Amino acid sequence: MQFENTLQFAQKLDAADKLKKYRDEFHFPKVNGKQVIYFTGNSLGLQPKRTQKFVDDVMADWANLAVEGHFYAEKPWWDYHERLAAPLAKVVGAKTEEVSVMNTLSVNLHLLLVSFYRPTKTRFKILCEEKAFPSDQYMLKSQVRFHGLDPEETIVEVKKRAGEHHWRTEDILAKIKEIGSELALVLIGGVNYYNGQVFDMKTITAAGQKAGAFVGWDLAHGVGNIALNLNEWNVDFAAWCSYKYMNSGPGHASGIYVNEKYLNDPDIPRFEGWWGTKKETRFLMKPEFEPMETADAWQISNAPILSVAPYLASLELFEKVGMDALIEKRDKIVAYLEFILHEIDAEVDSTFEIITPKDRGCQLSVFLHGQGRSLFDFLMKNGVITDWREPNVIRLAPAPFYCSYEDMYQFGQLLKKGILENLN
Ligand SMILES: *Cc1c(COP(=O)(O)O)cnc(C)c1O
Repeated sequence: MQFENTLQFAQKLDAADKLKKYRDEFHFPKVNGKQVIYFTGNSLGLQPKRTQKFVDDVMADWANLAVEGHFYAEKPWWDYHERLAAPLAKVVGAKTEEVSVMNTLSVNLHLLLVSFYRPTKTRFKILCEEKAFPSDQYMLKSQVRFHGLDPEETIVEVKKRAGEHHWRTEDILAKIKEIGSELALVLIGGVNYYNGQVFDMKTITAAGQKAGAFVGWDLAHGVGNIALNLNEWNVDFAAWCSYKYMNSGPGHASGIYVNEKYLNDPDIPRFEGWWGTKKETRFLMKPEFEPMETADAWQISNAPILSVAPYLASLELFEKVGMDALIEKRDKIVAYLEFILHEIDAEVDSTFEIITPKDRGCQLSVFLHGQGRSLFDFLMKNGVITDWREPNVIRLAPAPFYCSYEDMYQFGQLLKKGILENLN
């Protein structure tokens, strides 16, 4: 399609957008009395309007039923989290029994490493990407030290090549081969938070497993953004947060995936608690732990209902729309944004560099050569919510659920204005 950098053309794209009506399902913040242009759905997704009722219902059940809410609420709390597994499994390409909702992301990664990082004298190394999300770095290092090992000698980071902004699959595969029988675990962010790169999860998973390692993925930036087929790719485990593209609200419940082959496998240890035991006998309060036959075996505590309820509300929207339709719009709106960036770049003779490779989802990371933080501040003041990462990168993620093509056009106009004012 031949794009045009005009209001009329952007509005034409909106008129033809099959997901147009979903924009109205979300609350938008306002700046100067005007709805913002929201590019940070990769950081905290907007609040779906339907979420309020899900939370209110829990509050009302608590007020009216108190402890009886566990069993007699309209959506009883004792198995509330199970309602999320089926719709979530569709989003990540898993079987329902492979998915559970619990805790928060970094906590879940720690818990999954209890199961999937058990170093021996000869097989102990971890492969990850360089400059992984900080929490993942801290998590890996502390796990390694917990096992009495030295992170320096244990964690191998795959680097980008000099002058390149992305990782090459061939370099990851070569590293896996090089580490060989010492490799215990591959853990990478499936979609990189900084440059928006989507890793070839299928190929890397197969290569890691061929070397004899477990392979897991942090899908914080992947879930609700890209097509995932965790079961088909034979991924060992994965975890994600729900508040980025999944719109569940700040700090709310995380999701995990455990490959079906490890469910009911007594050789896979876990940290356990009462919510992982069989529902039928849980309240007999027996001393033996009889695990649920699903990923729910990894549940430890009773579920934080007020954090799970907004996730259920959001999943209702994902059920309605489906990942295929979201991905179709995502590709078009990101391409339009990319086009607008190039147009403005040419008009004002600036030098943006899009550092996101072609394997991408919703996010474009733009390196602003010769522009400073003041441009970012100008955008924020004028109702464009983006985020800034050192040294000079703005990340733009036009979430297809609620961003419009007109947003992209208006953003371009503000960007141009900001650059010109900055230069003067
Ligand atoms: C957002 C993000 C996290 C956040 O972790 P929390 O435990 O939810 O605070 C972790 N890892 C990656 C890769 C992320 O992008």
